[in-house]
Amino acid sequence: LPRVLSGIQPTAGSFHLGNYLGALRQWVAMQETAEAFYCVVDLHAITMDWDPEELRRNTLTAAAQLLALGVDPGRSTLFVQSHVPEHVRLSWVLECVARFGEASRMTQFKDKSQREGTAGSSVGLFTYPVLQAADILVYQADEVPVGEDQRQHLELTRDIATRFNGRFGDTFTIPAARIPEGAAKVLDLQAPEKKMSKSLPPAGCVFLLDDPKVTAKKIRSAVTDTGREVVADPEGKPGVTNLLGIHSALSGRSVAELEQHFAGRGYGDLKKELAEVVTEFVTPVRERTQQLLDDRAELERVLARGAERAREVAGRTVREVYDRVGFLPPA
Ligand code: ATP
Ligand code: MG
Repeated sequence: LPRVLSGIQPTAGSFHLGNYLGALRQWVAMQETAEAFYCVVDLHAITMDWDPEELRRNTLTAAAQLLALGVDPGRSTLFVQSHVPEHVRLSWVLECVARFGEASRMTQFKDKSQREGTAGSSVGLFTYPVLQAADILVYQADEVPVGEDQRQHLELTRDIATRFNGRFGDTFTIPAARIPEGAAKVLDLQAPEKKMSKSLPPAGCVFLLDDPKVTAKKIRSAVTDTGREVVADPEGKPGVTNLLGIHSALSGRSVAELEQHFAGRGYGDLKKELAEVVTEFVTPVRERTQQLLDDRAELERVLARGAERAREVAGRTVREVYDRVGFLPPA
């Protein structure tokens, strides 16, 4: 079976539609045909300003949402990144293999460092793609289901792994990104030139755990474009195209079919129907998440079992890497 690894940050109290359509939907599907490792990447969540209590709560909520969305701990290994110290142990070695120049080219750092500036951003924000490379390589993953925004980080991971293998002998599997065909980049409803994001000002971010009224309101007040026809046109009508893309991904109807369906009707009709489609999808997810959070002890047991399984696999890779780079084994 191919091995799959992916992670999601607990940087907010809820995931959003972009996370689901770009990544998590594939996580669930891929468990059928792969040996999957899925983690809540809490180490990544401290690269920008954070609150410790909130982080702990968000980590549990993230795990509960993953289960509610269909991650099956009987089939996949679900864990919290900080419970598996091998990620960090590998990351340091990879930091010494990665080049400052290649890390400097990561556009996500450019986006996320805008608020604090380069000088005021944490070193962790700069090096986090290398930790992400470690997350992937430590499991010898073949495939990584992610949204479009992670393509560049995956390339960096492949470059680091290839360089390491060339210098120290074949050690790492070179992973491939699995980016979905539709909805790989869901845009912010208020700023359809930006991707929907948990940690940047989330005015137009539709969270899965939002109250349905809030969801409807966010969709109602989505920025639309000039003109009045409901047709997809990524250049001329990014807002409407985004709404159509979300509808299509959730309803399973093609964009062409939806254009037909909305022919002669306006943006208001599209928004009204989309709010219904989204609410129908998120309502059972919200309920199930709450049930899972109500039994915290069981949730923690699931995560403990996952971490134990993850450590077995990750430990093998770190032992091999530490030997190859010349670290003296502990006596
Ligand atoms: P943050 O703002 O904290 O980076 P995020 O919303 O970008 O949060 P991540 O935890 O960084 O979420 O990413 C989790 C997964 O969701 C990744 O695979 C990422 O590619 C995917 N993803 C994030 N945003 C979108 C989006 N707008 N459209 C499609 N996929 C997305
Ligand atoms: Mg992100």
